[in-house]
Amino acid sequence: MARLAQTEGLTDIQREILSTVRDFVDKEIIPVATELEHRDEYPTQIVEGLKELGVFGLMIPEEYGGLGESLLTYALTVEEIARGWMSVSGIINTHFIVAYMLKQHGTQEQKDYFLPKMAAGEIRGAFSMSEPALGSDVSAISSKGVRDGDAYVLNGQKMWLTNGGSSTLVAVLCRTDEGHPEGTPPHKSMTTFLVEKEAGFGEVRPGLTIPGKIDKMGYKGVDTTELIMDGLRIPADRVLGGETGRGFYHMMDGVEVGRVNVAARGCGVAQRAFELGVSYAQQRHTFGKPIAQHQAIQFKLAEMATKVEAAHAMMVNAARKKDSGQRNDLEAGMAKYLASEYCKEVVEDAFRIHGGYGFSKEYEIERLYREAPMLLIGEGTAEIQKMIIGRRLLEEYRIQG
Ligand SMILES: Cc1cc2nc3c(=O)[nH]c(=O)nc-3n(C[C@H](O)[C@H](O)[C@H](O)COP(=O)(O)OP(=O)(O)OC[C@H]3O[C@@H](n4cnc5c(N)ncnc54)[C@H](O)[C@@H]3O)c2cc1C
Repeated sequence: MARLAQTEGLTDIQREILSTVRDFVDKEIIPVATELEHRDEYPTQIVEGLKELGVFGLMIPEEYGGLGESLLTYALTVEEIARGWMSVSGIINTHFIVAYMLKQHGTQEQKDYFLPKMAAGEIRGAFSMSEPALGSDVSAISSKGVRDGDAYVLNGQKMWLTNGGSSTLVAVLCRTDEGHPEGTPPHKSMTTFLVEKEAGFGEVRPGLTIPGKIDKMGYKGVDTTELIMDGLRIPADRVLGGETGRGFYHMMDGVEVGRVNVAARGCGVAQRAFELGVSYAQQRHTFGKPIAQHQAIQFKLAEMATKVEAAHAMMVNAARKKDSGQRNDLEAGMAKYLASEYCKEVVEDAFRIHGGYGFSKEYEIERLYREAPMLLIGEGTAEIQKMIIGRRLLEEYRIQG
């Protein structure tokens, strides 16, 4: 039935994984998502189901107990999950980024210790760059780690941690001066710390407080929090990769795959909005015929479907580029930018097709309408994507002389 957003050239295993996930989404997520979202309730049962399916270890190598799948498989899985409920893809996303950063940059001991537990979903990851005074401008980070014997002492305040309460491992980006002489550029004096903690709120480790959930307009169910470090001691062997000064690069690498992931979420939400719009348009009658028979509504459906197709194609292209070992910042930036903008537009059109009922909490589109804006902001705003795209284009198309 789903003609849109097909992906050519998938392996049998990829097709099997996606069909299993789609089935799970249709049976276990869509029927309960809106109700849980309205109650801002953490989807414990759904998360347990996804653990059983192996989704938390999808991209973790088999030697560490994961499925060793590609970024493409992961992104297509996320697209399916976001079609059901965007918040659930958010629960997996930060976990996936931290596991990816560990796989790419961790010491052997860090990989051996964390990855098997992450593959099983026993340890759950969150990542933390943003602070109250900054999000786009990562180089302005003020949280600081100072060496003290065989540990670092961390102080500072972080903001907007997706899964801040439910996670048990947070990759925290801090400034560290050790070994970096004065005048070192900010991006060369940052370090990622692997901070283990209890799940929950309050003082979750000596020197580390997660105050509580931030009340949001959408993206409910998943907890988003602040994080306060006040003399938090982290052993030196919990510096990601064992080397200070590399944190900015670690995070940018993580965010790059994260952007493909956010693009995939935009694709999934837009697909669901299209499904809701095309179905409602055939049921609602005005002026003696289904509204789908009015050309103005057909044009909306045509535009929505075209956007769903275009966003999906760009997202798949960005994932495949990374899987082939090539730099994909340009493609990931474009995919994230386009998919999030199109998602917002497709959701708005589906909302309009619903007329007054779109404004009622009884209809799923009301939830999607509050969820889509988050994708315009998370993993870098549209302006930041355009800065990345613009810079890369000028590198690629530099004129001689
Ligand atoms: C629900 C939610 C979950 C999040 N989860 C996480 C998380 O898990 N971990 C994490 O670290 N962060 C997280 N974030 C933070 C998110 O990454 C930031 O909100 C985002 O990067 C934007 O930063 P900001 O909010 O500080 O906006 P600002 O950086 O203050 O930007 C404000 C506006 O100015 C524009 N702007 C900024 N600089 C420029 C420029 N140079 N040129 C043109 N325009 C510019 C921006 O595009 C934006 O429109 C989350 C945010 C939300 C809302």
